[in-house]
Amino acid sequence: MRAVRYHGPKQPLRLESMPKPSPRPGEVLVKVSAAGICHTELHFLSGLLNLGVQPLTLGHEMVGVVEEVGAGVETPKTGDRVILYYYAGCGRCAHCLVGDENLCDALRAEYGFVSDGGFAEYAVVPARNAVRLPPGITDEAAAPIGCGVTTAVHAAGLARLSAGDVVLVYGVGAVSFGLIQLARLSGAEVVAVSRTPAKLEKAKALGAAHALNGNEGKVAERVREITRGHGADVVFEQVATKETMAASTAALAKRGRLVFIGYSEDSYTVHPIQLVITEASVTGAVGNTLGELVRAVDLVASGKIQTVVDRTLDLGEFQKGIDALQKGQLIGRAILRP
Ligand SMILES: [Zn+2]
Ligand SMILES: [Zn+2]
Repeated sequence: MRAVRYHGPKQPLRLESMPKPSPRPGEVLVKVSAAGICHTELHFLSGLLNLGVQPLTLGHEMVGVVEEVGAGVETPKTGDRVILYYYAGCGRCAHCLVGDENLCDALRAEYGFVSDGGFAEYAVVPARNAVRLPPGITDEAAAPIGCGVTTAVHAAGLARLSAGDVVLVYGVGAVSFGLIQLARLSGAEVVAVSRTPAKLEKAKALGAAHALNGNEGKVAERVREITRGHGADVVFEQVATKETMAASTAALAKRGRLVFIGYSEDSYTVHPIQLVITEASVTGAVGNTLGELVRAVDLVASGKIQTVVDRTLDLGEFQKGIDALQKGQLIGRAILRP
């Protein structure tokens, strides 16, 4: 089968020929039909994220059809259309036992991170990782649920979004499109920030009340103006450069929650007094849980959340998608079709 392989930081991805995998007992073999390119791929390529496993097939947003099931698998069945959950936790640690597989102490696999992922014709995962997709969502539209929407569901949960909150979404990509819509669903007022006018237009179309161009600076001051001095109850940081982190922190309302989802080469520095006098809190959000994937699929299937796809490419055209993402040209996901 064909697969896009990662060979380490600052090395080009390569389309290679690999043996077609077979499902072991309890696993399913999925013929991948759509795989989204996530910003995380750029962090692998730059070396900012280095989990030390290479060569590796990248891709953690995967949709396809079950082609073969291993011994003992009852569901899903051969022919089922599925979206794949990319963590396979140990099932026994304190985090797994409460469903927080994304924090597992002894992951058995993490597809597209330390285990072969979806930029390939086939993927093999435990049967429980293959979540059936309802009809009505195309494969391309479903792919960005896998990380984009599901990570947004996770981060929104950590932020304890509630009606009336002012939510600042800093940086507009696939996760942010999910966050904007989730915030609207919970009755919050959304301020989106990006340097790209077309992304801001899309943010508004999906429910952002305010769209600020980051190039114009003074983001925290403008948030205070819009909110008559209140500030942002929640800030989702998707950019996390020195400049945006300073603005994000300065924009926080009293008891505001700053949630890091994205990261850059830059470190976060804050004087404790900024947090003390506002009782603000800072947290990180990583990945998502299987339950959140199921919920994200429901949200998209019921039309409450839309995914945003910029373009669809053949697997062999992966570099075009990576380049467009790197240059900030994508409004939503580029989807590879193996
Ligand atoms: Zn991702
Ligand atoms: Zn575990």
